[in-house]
Amino acid sequence: MKIDVITIFPAMVDAGLAEGVVGRARTSGLLDIVVHNLRDFTTDKHHVVDDVPFGGGPGMVMKPEPFFAALGAIRAARGTPGAVILMSPAGERFTQQGARRLAGVAHLVLLCGRYEGIDERVREALATEEISIGDYVLSGGEVPALVVIDAVARLVPGVVGDEQSVEADSFTRGLLDYPHYTRPAEYEGRPVPEVLLSGHHAEIRRWRREAALQRTQERRPDLLATAALDADEREWLKRSKS
Ligand code: SAM
Repeated sequence: MKIDVITIFPAMVDAGLAEGVVGRARTSGLLDIVVHNLRDFTTDKHHVVDDVPFGGGPGMVMKPEPFFAALGAIRAARGTPGAVILMSPAGERFTQQGARRLAGVAHLVLLCGRYEGIDERVREALATEEISIGDYVLSGGEVPALVVIDAVARLVPGVVGDEQSVEADSFTRGLLDYPHYTRPAEYEGRPVPEVLLSGHHAEIRRWRREAALQRTQERRPDLLATAALDADEREWLKRSKS
């Protein structure tokens, strides 16, 4: 999978992509990620990327020209991307379902804003979609881009070693994940649920399924309406409500 990121802080993005499963996938070539410095696509002596807003008001706005030049260079060097994503609090809320969809796109470009944001013509002419990572405002699009890349990358086959761990993750089946435990079997008077030490795989599976259902019902009942439940799970929910 190819990913290009356009930012004025490439070191920040590269640092966030250097460790863990994403870092390893980058090293092995499974993920081909290039982080571009927007200032490299300016034409003036001082590499200016922002200007005052038309109409007045506070802050600065990112100029359109460097983004157009950067995307042109990416197209020429790496081909036409399948999606050009503008990171923005005004975008569509990012979800696990969105991550799954993007994991099926072979080449993504992510545009990171700063200051008051990016000149609107970049959204109109270059972006194919606009993504928000939540209803809060960050100082730049770099952390949101890292969030999207991490969530998408771990769904690319081979990036996460044990594929099963991705399948059990929260949201994958529309439910929250079950609780996890490791050694010691008892810690500060808190024992691990007995069944997990029993070696009975069918019982353990059942416990985990029910724990995931219970947790989802308690914390995110809204997810149950669209979760992919089997007959046993639906029966468990019915019983738990009565
Ligand atoms: N004036 C903008 C607004 O109110 O929508 C906020 C600009 S913010 C300070 C600068 C940049 O950070 C944005 O252009 C965007 O790239 C990024 N950003 C901030 N919060 C974000 C979020 N929740 N999701 C995605 N990107 C975000």
